[in-house]
Amino acid sequence: MSQKPRISIEFFPPKTPEGRVKLDSALQELALLQPEYYSVTYGAGGSTRHQTKDVVLDLIGRGFEVAPHLSFGADSEDAIAALVDEYVAAGVTRIVALRGDMPSGVGQVRPVYANQLVEFLRARYGDGLTLAVACYPEVHPQAVSLDSDIFYLKQKLDAGANLAITQYFYNLEAFVYFRSRCDAAGIRQPIYPGIMPITNLDNLARFSDNCGADIPRWLRKGLAACDSPEKLRQLGEDVVVRLCDQLMQAGVPGFHFYSMNQSTATMRICQRLSLGAHGA
Ligand code: FAD
Repeated sequence: MSQKPRISIEFFPPKTPEGRVKLDSALQELALLQPEYYSVTYGAGGSTRHQTKDVVLDLIGRGFEVAPHLSFGADSEDAIAALVDEYVAAGVTRIVALRGDMPSGVGQVRPVYANQLVEFLRARYGDGLTLAVACYPEVHPQAVSLDSDIFYLKQKLDAGANLAITQYFYNLEAFVYFRSRCDAAGIRQPIYPGIMPITNLDNLARFSDNCGADIPRWLRKGLAACDSPEKLRQLGEDVVVRLCDQLMQAGVPGFHFYSMNQSTATMRICQRLSLGAHGA
């Protein structure tokens, strides 16, 4: 590819003071990569609204570019507008717009799909915001089919989103096929692969079961056979570096790293691939 891949890095809002200290130390190290922006997740149904806002405003105040994740959940348009007004006043120029999931235990709520949030944000803020949406090379767990998922992806991009970020995946072919189908569907906005570094098999298996990302058999078996955390980290790093390398050869515009508020794995992957400021 001709241009250097862009990188963005995702955090979640910590629940405890210790988690906050951990996030700050990860940020200190990851900032050396000079990512294009950081993003901060929004708990299911807005359950981390205050924590997400605290982290976003803190990072913006420290001069970083930050994209809050956002979903309607069960909130009113007024409540969402008040939150976004506050973000915009603080200097936010990007949002990751989602339908999101409702927290377990919450009854049936009429879903507000991501395209509706994109429409709402475009109507209220014009072109002043860069909007990212989510997409799923291995198909969203609730989608009827790949085709219907791509239909709805196009709908939210047509509503005014600027780019899409994928759920993580370890199967290169799933992404390449997905991208070709998006292309055939007339999607022209850039698609950034989401990259999940591998540091712990149990956690990865749990996340993957929840979000419908596949851990290929060869990878799961290989990770399970590692007899020390260090060997597992090394195998995970080698696999993800190889995946990113192949994705770069396939011409992706950049990567979105799911850092899980840890720095080491993301740093090592970026260093090995000369991504971020390390590639300068
Ligand atoms: P949508 O694009 O609205 O799609 C949801 C499902 O409904 C899909 O199956 C789609 O095919 C279908 N669909 C879409 N539109 C319609 C329609 N009009 N009618 C009928 N069906 C439709 N979750 C969080 O809780 N917080 C986060 O911060 C968060 N960040 C994420 C970041 C990224 C990059 C990714 C990939 C996922 C993230 N998620 C997050 C997970 C996401 O919220 C869930 O996958 C959620 O179930 C779907 O959100 P969406 O925005 O993709 O939904």
